Amino acid sequence: MSNETKELKEQLLISSKKKIHRLSDEELAKADEFCEPYKDFLNKARTEREAVTEALAMAKENGFKEYNPDITYSAGDKVYIVNRNKAIGLAVIGRTGTSEGVLLSIAHIDSPRIDLKPNPLYEKDSLALFKTHYYGGIKKYQWTTIPLALHGRVCKTDGTYVDISIGDDESDPCFCISDILPHLGQEQAQKKLGQAFTGEDLNCLIGSRPYSDEEGEQVRLNTMKLIYDKYGFTENDFLSAELSLVPACKSRDVGFDRSMIGSYGHDDRVCAYTALMAIIDAGVPEKTCITYLTDKEETGSDGNTGMQSDFLRYFIYDMAKSEGQEGYRVLSKSKCLSADVNAAVDPTYASCFESKNCSYLNEGVVISKYTGARGKSGTSDASAEYMGEIRTMLESNDIIWQVGELGRVDLGGGGTIAKYVANMNVDVVDLGVPVLSMHAPFEIVAKVDVYMAYLAFLHFFVG
Ligand code: MN
Ligand code: MN
Repeated sequence: MSNETKELKEQLLISSKKKIHRLSDEELAKADEFCEPYKDFLNKARTEREAVTEALAMAKENGFKEYNPDITYSAGDKVYIVNRNKAIGLAVIGRTGTSEGVLLSIAHIDSPRIDLKPNPLYEKDSLALFKTHYYGGIKKYQWTTIPLALHGRVCKTDGTYVDISIGDDESDPCFCISDILPHLGQEQAQKKLGQAFTGEDLNCLIGSRPYSDEEGEQVRLNTMKLIYDKYGFTENDFLSAELSLVPACKSRDVGFDRSMIGSYGHDDRVCAYTALMAIIDAGVPEKTCITYLTDKEETGSDGNTGMQSDFLRYFIYDMAKSEGQEGYRVLSKSKCLSADVNAAVDPTYASCFESKNCSYLNEGVVISKYTGARGKSGTSDASAEYMGEIRTMLESNDIIWQVGELGRVDLGGGGTIAKYVANMNVDVVDLGVPVLSMHAPFEIVAKVDVYMAYLAFLHFFVG
């Protein structure tokens, strides 16, 4: 190739050089170091409630105080607000307050899982089991024959509640959804994958010993007695409980090079954690910055703790009002990173992706101009202007980044919270971490991408 051709190529075409080569050994080491507390966060935050508990503890440790709408705050003040123990906002007041709009990084802290039905306990063939109702989009077979832990809250009629967390500690018992052995699985094997396991097949084994040799469901009775002795609630109390089965597996380094993390719940606690660290490290920003961690994304963002709730809007309106601003004007000048994961290319399933417009592990944070399905339905399509702004922010801070659609056109699709924020007249684009095996009990991310997400949220806040 002549020098002239080479120069012209460098000037005009996107470089095919792998982006990870831009990082020095020190930067790689920083990425690895950043991910150690993230792994701990994942091990503690198994549900959205527990993610709020962890985020709240981190907020308090770093000087955030509970938000009071009657106080006028000044630059550098740090506040938090919690919605029903399932969503949390952390704000740092900027030098211009809300007058020039606010900067939002929003991630979701709910993850796909197996919830218990309101009346879950039953006995069959002398085994005690829970009936379940899965939450979010799962490939059902992935959730059978793996150890499961039980997490959640049971509210009793006397106004008290009990929090449950059993199965994660190695000395705890765990629970399991069984599957038929291959020898007897011929009929199942003939079925299509999506039909071979039904929702009603996801029954979870929780006990096998009878209470006594008398007639009646003695295993059910024995199981309920053990639950009552330990937690003090009866079978009726399941009706006012939220109990979820999640994989009983701690986060682990993956690969000989330890470059990746395998864990339950990267979607979307990886963006939640990085956005949380960014607001904690935001110092005194120009504009007021908010990291908001929301619930219910995996089921469509409906409900009072989901992104379609007015909770965040009211919070921003309150801040605006205390500064003599109109809430809707503040929103109209605000900007948002919808912090969510995207599907990384899996070499084994490469045909699901279009190689020039998808994300890869170790290529940095992924910007998705739009998500949606088919002809871009059900999405917020970020404007060229806003894409340009975010691109400039990333490049001027040497943050490695890539663009990615969610798979091949017409293959499937998906949505994020971006459209609900956009509907409030806020500029928004999806930015997050590429993930392998998304929605599986053990998802995989690359440490470099996690660190780049943190830097992206931080520089979005501080410039
Ligand atoms: Mn997500
Ligand atoms: Mn998801």
